[in-house]
Amino acid sequence: MSMQFCVLGNKAGGSPLLARHHSSTTLLLEGETLLFDCGEGTQKRLLEAKISRAPIDRIFISHMHVDHVLGLPALLATYSSDKRTRPLFIVGPRNLREFVECSLRTMDVFLGYELDIRELDTYFSGRVSDTGSYTVEAQMLEHRIDSFGYRVEEKAHVNIDMEKVRKRGLQEGAIIGKLKREGRVQLSDGSVVELDDVTSPPKPTRSFVYCGDTQFSDRTIELARKATVLVHEATFDSSLEGKAGHWGHATAADAARVAREAEVGTLYLTHISARYISFAPLLAEAREVFPASYIAEELKKETV
Ligand SMILES: [Zn+2]
Ligand SMILES: [Zn+2]
Repeated sequence: MSMQFCVLGNKAGGSPLLARHHSSTTLLLEGETLLFDCGEGTQKRLLEAKISRAPIDRIFISHMHVDHVLGLPALLATYSSDKRTRPLFIVGPRNLREFVECSLRTMDVFLGYELDIRELDTYFSGRVSDTGSYTVEAQMLEHRIDSFGYRVEEKAHVNIDMEKVRKRGLQEGAIIGKLKREGRVQLSDGSVVELDDVTSPPKPTRSFVYCGDTQFSDRTIELARKATVLVHEATFDSSLEGKAGHWGHATAADAARVAREAEVGTLYLTHISARYISFAPLLAEAREVFPASYIAEELKKETV
């Protein structure tokens, strides 16, 4: 399965900047796009990134602060103009339903598709999506209000080894289908073939973790354990550690500490305060702790 992510906006806070944008991140899978947060202007950023909004069937909201959700009612209304019929699943913290329903009602928006909103209880930790090709886990993090991180985990795929299939003299097709479903199959001569006899070891699965707003937390480390990619907020640099603690945010060094403790593959810093003209100090302090650290550049598509 192809897996790419694209951060549409890496700016912290609600006030606008010309060059940088509010929080939203996409994960592009085969035939489906997942959206994490939907800050103001997300629809326009999707256009600029040349990412279609149509294959978005699942939206994951970290928390209800304005810089993470204001674009949501607009996107939902656009889907109605698009004559969307497929249901849309949105998961996030409490107040999400009230926010969405109140926005749609007061702005006279009627949806022609089913909206499936799931609100997570405070301290929720567990699975929120399970499809044929991936799962998504949510984990409450540590912010001023309930804030959730999400982990997308690719499912291991059975790798049929055609060489082994031929060596066993099996006819392809029906028998292999049965093997995949049932794990073993008895042939007409009475011999038994196990699935393991005709498969090669599965490729290591990839995982993508998105953490919106949070200060340093052991819960984030738990969620991000050995993830391929971690996208983590880094609102401030360490000289503003006090401010970060007060506002429930992480410094770049905090994010890097999470990446190091969780043994992730690569760390991307996002949700960076508007005060930074250059990201160099944040990147430098992160790399000191965790060398595989990068800034999540807006609109750049990265492979997981
Ligand atoms: Zn924020
Ligand atoms: Zn916040």
